[in-house]
Amino acid sequence: MLNLVLFGPPGAGKGTQSEKLIRKYNLVHLSTGDLLRSQIVAGTELGVQAKQLMDQGLLVSDEVVIGMIEYKLRENQSVGATAPAGTPERDRSVGATSVGGFIFDGFPRTVPQAEALDQLLTHYNTRISTMVALVVDDEELTRRLLKRGETSGRPDDQNEDLIRRRVTEYNSKTRPVADYYSQQGKYVAIDGIGDVEAIFETICGEIQKATVGAE
Ligand code: ADP
Repeated sequence: MLNLVLFGPPGAGKGTQSEKLIRKYNLVHLSTGDLLRSQIVAGTELGVQAKQLMDQGLLVSDEVVIGMIEYKLRENQSVGATAPAGTPERDRSVGATSVGGFIFDGFPRTVPQAEALDQLLTHYNTRISTMVALVVDDEELTRRLLKRGETSGRPDDQNEDLIRRRVTEYNSKTRPVADYYSQQGKYVAIDGIGDVEAIFETICGEIQKATVGAE
């Protein structure tokens, strides 16, 4: 089972690379940003509260995002299961096909979130295979996010001050998550500037290295 954390600041290209990785490795995509935005669209209490923070470029509370991930893991319990086709266990797995694992995108964003994820995965007898960090400098990030804001409709991509706040929030709260995985020998940094296909190939090479010999 391949459980991948795709890491990097806002605008590093996590969404673009996630799509390609999901297709290649048949992964379930767990993006806390997407999950939060669907709560906002649905107008839930959680969505209303999250929006206030997201509109300021601030992180949503650990409790909320951990709860969302916990729920999604429970919903997808049979992912990676090797139950024979036709059995109820297998039929419950996503698409009833051999889903290969999870890709975590935009999560964990703080050390307590990373600790909680480890605990949750242990509960399901699995673990993070590797964390791939896309490295992009702050100037390039701002440029990309402002460009994305022209078409994405995301309010947090349309204001330069807000973008800088998100990058600052990343540098103070999220960067330490890289050390957390580094201590476990699971951190791989990849240059996120350049050709999308070339970056994808580099990521696949790192996944190959990380999973050699693993079950
Ligand atoms: P980006 O990759 O551009 O940062 P995301 O879609 O991942 O965008 O996240 C958008 C916003 O949602 C973040 O700025 C933050 O407010 C909130 N958010 C997403 N994931 C988390 C998380 N794991 N912990 C706390 N807040 C989160």
